[in-house]
Amino acid sequence: MKETKIGIVSCSGEECLGGTISRLATRKVLEKLRMGETVTICLPLFIAGGEEERLFAKVFPTIAVDGCSKLCAMRATEKYSGKVNAVVNVAEILGEEKALSELVSLKEMPQDYEEIVDKVANEICKKIDKIISDILTKEAMEELESQGKSGGGCCCGNC
Ligand code: SF4
Repeated sequence: MKETKIGIVSCSGEECLGGTISRLATRKVLEKLRMGETVTICLPLFIAGGEEERLFAKVFPTIAVDGCSKLCAMRATEKYSGKVNAVVNVAEILGEEKALSELVSLKEMPQDYEEIVDKVANEICKKIDKIISDILTKEAMEELESQGKSGGGCCCGNC
């Protein structure tokens, strides 16, 4: 596979549980679960006109991680760079009301927050695996076509 990185754009909602979970799960994926395969795109910088961020999201696959169904990260990415490859909406895991519950400080995090972060991080990893699998399939098909073989026949190439 040609070297590819997947950009993760997390919403920056700081005052609600969904936004905070989005950021913690994104960090867990970047620093532990998929280190080296992923990079983060800073949403505030992206919106403020960060050229590198916008270019990266145009060229590489992206996943938006949003805290609620307003989907700010997805909308901003699609406005400035193009369609995202996948969206993880924390509110679909937590429930919209809980996701939008106010969070003044990290001390107010629910007791089971680590479990929720893990769930969201696993969802992000599933999306990453699907994107990589799609890229590998596409590359394999292109390789077959470049050798004058269609993807439909026997692998010996004579059928
Ligand atoms: S998606 Fe929801 S939680 Fe995230 S920044 Fe937008 S409104 Fe806030």
